[in-house]
Amino acid sequence: MADYTRITLDESEIPSQWYNIVPDLPEPPPPVLHPGTHEPVGPDDLSPLFPMALIGQEVSTERYIDIPGPVMDVYKTWRATPLHRARALEKYLDTPARIYYKYEGGSPAGSHKPNTSIPQAYYNAQEGVKKLTTETGAGQWGSALALATSLFGLECEVWMVAASFEQKPYRKTMMEVWGATVHSSPSDVTEAGRKIGAENPDSPGSLGIAISEAVEAAVGDPDTKYALGSVLNHVLLHQTVIGEEALLQLAKIDEKPDLLVGCTGGGSNFAGLSFPFLREKLAGRMNPTIRCVEPAACPSLTRGEYRYDFGDMIGMTPLVKMHTLGHSFVPDPIHAGGLRYHGMAPLVSHIYELGLTEAEAIHQTECFEAAVIFARTEGILPAPEPTHAIAEAIREAKRAKETGEETVILIAVCGHGHFDLTAYESYLAGNLVDYDYPAEKVAAAMEQVPVIA
Ligand SMILES: *Cc1c(COP(=O)(O)O)cnc(C)c1O
Repeated sequence: MADYTRITLDESEIPSQWYNIVPDLPEPPPPVLHPGTHEPVGPDDLSPLFPMALIGQEVSTERYIDIPGPVMDVYKTWRATPLHRARALEKYLDTPARIYYKYEGGSPAGSHKPNTSIPQAYYNAQEGVKKLTTETGAGQWGSALALATSLFGLECEVWMVAASFEQKPYRKTMMEVWGATVHSSPSDVTEAGRKIGAENPDSPGSLGIAISEAVEAAVGDPDTKYALGSVLNHVLLHQTVIGEEALLQLAKIDEKPDLLVGCTGGGSNFAGLSFPFLREKLAGRMNPTIRCVEPAACPSLTRGEYRYDFGDMIGMTPLVKMHTLGHSFVPDPIHAGGLRYHGMAPLVSHIYELGLTEAEAIHQTECFEAAVIFARTEGILPAPEPTHAIAEAIREAKRAKETGEETVILIAVCGHGHFDLTAYESYLAGNLVDYDYPAEKVAAAMEQVPVIA
């Protein structure tokens, strides 16, 4: 084995197509349903929200989709992202496992999110849209969309979950530098926000509420559309650049992973890394175990039900079949803000139901302990979300030490944590609390999930 620590790609080697896993699955995913009629939605139902190019990708059965030239030009400003071998971490753990991580924190917004915000802004601009609205939890998606809209000459209006708006003022400033307007959600500029604010004046907000507000603002204006940073098929599609690059990078050093791990909030960074590897697995060219890791406080895959539910809080979006904790679920204020969503991507949920992937839930103190070890060995200070993948890699590396197996582990480190230092501060001060799955709250939320005949 050659002695690599950081594997890169030349500009000419960067993949020029996204990979759509749908045609390779043993069963097609269930259809998206209209919230009123419960019939499968057609392109016209989605056109107030999304441009036709993205609606086409949402329902596409083409295996590969070309990345447009102007999108490639922007991708190349930070892609290919490096694949690192975590030699110092391996040494610290004294493990025979070889740990690799694909690092997405070097993008201008600091996470994997620009992989999809750039093409989303591009296709909207192509179709004459003037403004995009969106929600953001921890602020990473809002930053990524603000960046992309500024590059393609669009306006951007962001509803940021109130709890994060207060905890992370600099994410807001970052969005404003890129020209976006940012509201704390629930806000008083939408009907949905006013309604929820009246019922609960101290609401910390949630992604579900912020989505309701951003969708309402888009539907009310013909020049405005809505953009989502995770969950949808076209978002997962755009993220596959991560896995396609990682496959090429591992091939360069003649490695094949035994285990792939990604954190899952809505499922996009996990899907981005794992779907190209799942293609290889389904074709019999490799056989990695593929595992999602989610917060124990927001365990949609491991504890949620697989059923049709709304994507937002007040039931404006189409119904999608997914692992859900109920659309009215408001999670506890854990620090991995990007993982606090009530549902899981329909494609990630479907693939999990097919038994092609595994899932595990980990508490936040174990994650931050892992993050500090990672920062002190590898040097990178990770975002709270990928600390879940790092914690799982450490668990596996310790297992490998016991068995003596040279397990090859590949994880997604999907963002840096430079805006999350209050979370590190509480961890270092010993103030971080673990929340368990609030079973009663979720049971109550389940009662509001529609029953589909
Ligand atoms: C948004 C975000 C997540 C959660 O979203 P996924 O769609 O599950 O990837 C995780 N990590 C980071 C760094 C994020 O910005």
